[in-house]
Amino acid sequence: MKTYEGKSVFGGVAIGKVLVYKKGEQQVKRYRVSDTKAEIERFEGAKAEAVEQLKELYAKAVKEVGEASAAIFEIHQMMLEDLDYLDSIHNMIETQEVNAEYAVATTSDNFAMMFSSMDDAYMKERAADVKDVSERILAILSGGAKSTVATDEPSIIVADDLAPSETVQLDKDKVLAFVTVHGSSNSHTAILARTMGIPALIGTPVDLESVDGKMAVVDGYTGTFYVDPDEETMKTMEEKRRKDLEQKELLQNLKGKENITLDGKKINVYANIGNIKDLAMVLQNDAGGIGLFRSEFIYLEKEDYPTEEEQFKIYRAVAETMAGKKVIIRTLDIGADKQASYFNMEHEENPALGYRAIRICLTRPEIFKTQLRALFRASAYGNISIMYPMIISVDEVKKIKQIVEEVKAELTSQEIAFGDVEQGIMIETPAAVMVSEALAKEVDFFSIGTNDLTQYTLAIDRQNPKLEEFYDPHHPAVLNMIRMTVENAHKAGIWAGICGELGADPELTKLFLSIGVDELSVSPSRVLSVRKTILETDVEKERDEQIKKWL
Ligand code: PEP
Ligand code: MG
Repeated sequence: MKTYEGKSVFGGVAIGKVLVYKKGEQQVKRYRVSDTKAEIERFEGAKAEAVEQLKELYAKAVKEVGEASAAIFEIHQMMLEDLDYLDSIHNMIETQEVNAEYAVATTSDNFAMMFSSMDDAYMKERAADVKDVSERILAILSGGAKSTVATDEPSIIVADDLAPSETVQLDKDKVLAFVTVHGSSNSHTAILARTMGIPALIGTPVDLESVDGKMAVVDGYTGTFYVDPDEETMKTMEEKRRKDLEQKELLQNLKGKENITLDGKKINVYANIGNIKDLAMVLQNDAGGIGLFRSEFIYLEKEDYPTEEEQFKIYRAVAETMAGKKVIIRTLDIGADKQASYFNMEHEENPALGYRAIRICLTRPEIFKTQLRALFRASAYGNISIMYPMIISVDEVKKIKQIVEEVKAELTSQEIAFGDVEQGIMIETPAAVMVSEALAKEVDFFSIGTNDLTQYTLAIDRQNPKLEEFYDPHHPAVLNMIRMTVENAHKAGIWAGICGELGADPELTKLFLSIGVDELSVSPSRVLSVRKTILETDVEKERDEQIKKWL
């Protein structure tokens, strides 16, 4: 058995034979042409055909993986209209009197080199795209079709790299998984793999020649690729695959279905994320939206304050990937256990009760405004809502609203577009619960942060392992606070959800439904089990018993 470690871009387990995919490398010869005008026309003809092919690929991809992921083929069409790219090819044919193939291949190499030398990760990725479209034209010019993966029996496709167009053309029934030596997790190929639900590893240092035709296992959960697995590995992996298939079946049964109880009550089940990388799991588990994006992780991963532009790109990518579904982004919740050295925070005796979250934002508005500008700008690209953490008073909300108005006025005067943004607050302090009736009149929604709410209600440090046995989120004080918050939200005509860990507690789902919680935002991996319980609950029948049991 040989074991390789790669980076997983999509979970799942696949067992089967390896099929090594080699690109049909286009051997491009340079020769002199005397009629350069005719050569340019030959190129233009091939380009037009490439555009037609891309339109077909786009239509196929929309059907199979949805509009957002298919967009790459629109980008490829746009690349073929890019004036710099076209000028370079035309100019080379005219001035150097060379054949179209040579001009396309050289331009492709030059552009790919330019893109890959850029600092911006998104632009780096474009190197693969420019090569992909150029190869398409080269294939047309040489009279052949662009190479595709063809396989009769279901196989694990192993390749040096796969272009988006190659990935989308895979016959899904014949592909068990794919493993590439190169590639990046943000590439469109990886995104397509996730959307198609195929276990996939990238950056796996496989020797292509030595694995072709061999039996293998891809563990998309750990990123491991086993070639010629021994008996024990095979047994473990078969069991893992069985469980995985069970989970997938559950997903299949729930996918696209609304979360409605037996007696017709609707509730939204969203996912919590801390990073753009978590989106794969969100899509995989069919969450209805993102209920909590902990934006402070963007700050924690950096050595210095993230710029407006850096943040904007991340928020926009999340909004676009979620394709119109709700994305609730929480503003910076730094402090306490989440420290970034460049904030230069002073030592505090009680950091959980200290200078943190909204308290930093309100006293250092330059940091807050940078984030708000990025968020509002990104709101033009999807369904973004904003929520503010650690609120204790109506006064804080009024101050926030004033800063938000300043930011919006600034964007308007700069003619920068932004969308309609719902604004809500986290209810995670007992103070916020007690004034929730007044707070509800100021905001569009509440999201209850039960992790901190439990900590502050029970006066128990959530970080202290010694106190684990006392940290009881089932405490009636906590549960009654949730009920009070939801009631006050509804009185003011706004919705209330839960985004703390308690939202995914299987013992409490029925109680939450009984007290009218409108949304549960949980870890992506727990979305399906929560949805399953909702579908099995009859709220009217079970309410009295639930309330008696817990409150
Ligand atoms: C919470 O407090 O419940 C919450 C969701 O926020 P965090 O866990 O990030 O503090
Ligand atoms: Mg919190």
